[in-house]
Amino acid sequence: MTTAARRELRAFWLGRAAYEPVHALQHQLQEARKAGRITDTVLFVEHEPTITLGRGATADHLIRVLRAEPGMEADVVAGGHVFHAEVAAVSSDEVRFNLVAEVQADPALPVTLVVAVYKFDHMEWAIEKATELGVAAMAPVIAQRTEKHLAQAAEKRAERWRRIANEAAQQSRRSDVPVIHNPTLLASHVRAASEMTRIVLAEQERTTTLRRLIEEAVEAAGEEMPALEIAIGPEGGWAPAEEALFDANGWRAVSLGPRILRAETAAIAALAVVASALE
Ligand code: SAM
Repeated sequence: MTTAARRELRAFWLGRAAYEPVHALQHQLQEARKAGRITDTVLFVEHEPTITLGRGATADHLIRVLRAEPGMEADVVAGGHVFHAEVAAVSSDEVRFNLVAEVQADPALPVTLVVAVYKFDHMEWAIEKATELGVAAMAPVIAQRTEKHLAQAAEKRAERWRRIANEAAQQSRRSDVPVIHNPTLLASHVRAASEMTRIVLAEQERTTTLRRLIEEAVEAAGEEMPALEIAIGPEGGWAPAEEALFDANGWRAVSLGPRILRAETAAIAALAVVASALE
């Protein structure tokens, strides 16, 4: 089997249907932990619980493209957990796995990116990268400078954005998939009530940097991890009325530095700053 195929075999999703055996496994995990029978992330149980990947695109891909066979190893994501597993059996439309050990998966960053809708291909690149970087959720918003045809097409495009997040989560071995909200009008999102620390990336801001504001939020949150909402403008930037709206609703304007970044670059830069401050 080629290295590429082995790498691809390493990560895939299992549907809710396969969740139940995992639930039983979690129960065993808790019992075994209480009884001190397991160390941190490595678990060997008496009989190896199995889960089955039933008829569907992923099973098809495994069987017909990756030519899965018993004994091959893989990482399996199920019920919000990542497991190291081994193929136990392959039939014409099903692949059965033995779950060997639970693998520690890093929790998502407590960040919701509020993204003003802009060119779809650039935006979709940002969704993929933000998922890899651990974003918890993304909220597409229609801003004043969002091009009309994109504003009209955004609603229909949301399913595709969710597929992109799903695939990127799989590739980056996340145990969860970021939530992609339905597109809304910027004003209603800005005015909506929220417990989160609300931040707007503003290229003309000169005093407060994102890093500084996160340090403040961490201090204020004490033990807890501060939940952050970070808004990123469209290609043309925020309109003056929108900047005033953010300000009037308690959003803090921050700078990512002196250079003007494309919206997708600003999204990645902001997540990198958050990750370096929180992780
Ligand atoms: N209107 C700007 C221009 O053409 O001068 C460019 C907007 S920029 C392409 C898109 C968005 O990225 C901005 O609205 C802002 O949210 C964010 N952004 C880009 N560079 C930034 C910076 N240096 N500091 C803070 N935010 C930035």
